[in-house]
Amino acid sequence: MPRGRIEVITGGMFSGKSEELVRRLRREGFARKSIRAVKHASDCRYHETHIGCHGGQTFEALPVKDAEALVRQVAGFEVVGIDEGQFFGDDLPDACEHLANAGVLVIVAGLDLTAEGKPFHPMPALMAIAEDVTKLRAVCVVCGEKACRSHHLAGKDVDVEVGAKSYEARCRGCWKDAIG
Ligand code: ZN
Repeated sequence: MPRGRIEVITGGMFSGKSEELVRRLRREGFARKSIRAVKHASDCRYHETHIGCHGGQTFEALPVKDAEALVRQVAGFEVVGIDEGQFFGDDLPDACEHLANAGVLVIVAGLDLTAEGKPFHPMPALMAIAEDVTKLRAVCVVCGEKACRSHHLAGKDVDVEVGAKSYEARCRGCWKDAIG
């Protein structure tokens, strides 16, 4: 019996979302499920055909440009992992719903907030339709508390870009101090 469902792994930069995605995919692999992982084509931080982790294990992933291409590329797989879900646009929730209804286990990792602290669409809609949502937190670089925000070091008027170099994890208070 297929067990279609949607799992979301979300949180700020450096909270371990990709690592958690890789862990869950590997676990499904041990159970001999057929797995396809995809990432957004704009995410070229690490090796182009892998889900990038800031320092851990990687998982082979196919770069796709949008939700439509994603659905095409994952046809026939039992488990689908999606990294950087926030880049896929507003068609992603429907695409995931379609896959889950067809019996696919869909696991999506993505940022919950922009660097301005606003909901990063389409992650909120995805979280609403998911069976399971895991919010991870990083460690605040300033005070060491759990961090829920991604602070952009070069300024505050950009969305979270591709790449992690110009960001740091901050708790709400230290993030507020930084943006003024
Ligand atoms: Zn802090």
